Amino acid sequence: MDTMVEEGAYFPDEQFYQNEVGGAEINLARFSGDEKRVRGVVAPERLSELDAEVLSIAGPTRVSLRLTKSRGRFRVVGTLSGLVDMACGRCLAHFRQPLECQVDRLYVPKPEPDETSGEHRMDEDVVYLADALLSVRRLVEEELLLVLPMRPLCGKTCKGLCSECGVDLNQATCDCRTEDAVNPFAALKALKLKS
Ligand SMILES: [Zn+2]
Ligand SMILES: [Zn+2]
Repeated sequence: MDTMVEEGAYFPDEQFYQNEVGGAEINLARFSGDEKRVRGVVAPERLSELDAEVLSIAGPTRVSLRLTKSRGRFRVVGTLSGLVDMACGRCLAHFRQPLECQVDRLYVPKPEPDETSGEHRMDEDVVYLADALLSVRRLVEEELLLVLPMRPLCGKTCKGLCSECGVDLNQATCDCRTEDAVNPFAALKALKLKS
């Protein structure tokens, strides 16, 4: 399947979404010309590696990449934008969040340098491809993984769950606050108990 699209092509939204590039593999050994563009979407089911109990890809990930070659290295620059469903790290509620990331990576079509051969990695951002095949799906997975929050929050002000009774403090309140000493209602509570 050839999913390469020439530069300058116009993409109305509908057409953009029909161009599924998740299965695209660019053979760097056969790269010719100044640049190649990859534009389209990667379907959520392609990104199953990212699926986890607390996370799922909620829609097509938009991909816009430009590949250029210079001195045996291949540079991929562009943007990804996707949508994820996550569980809040404080209140466990599920929420949807857009993900955006800027891509800038270097690919070298040869096996990763061997530590013992004396060949050193010139910089950490280089990706070595033993088979010279650049997988769009893998690139998208790796990049999205980098921008996923370590501890997702449904909102900055999320109050979380009560550590005593488990009630969602965003939705309700409970009486099991332990810091009675600083709680102005503690005195009132004590009065009620006496009566
Ligand atoms: Zn929350
Ligand atoms: Zn409680």
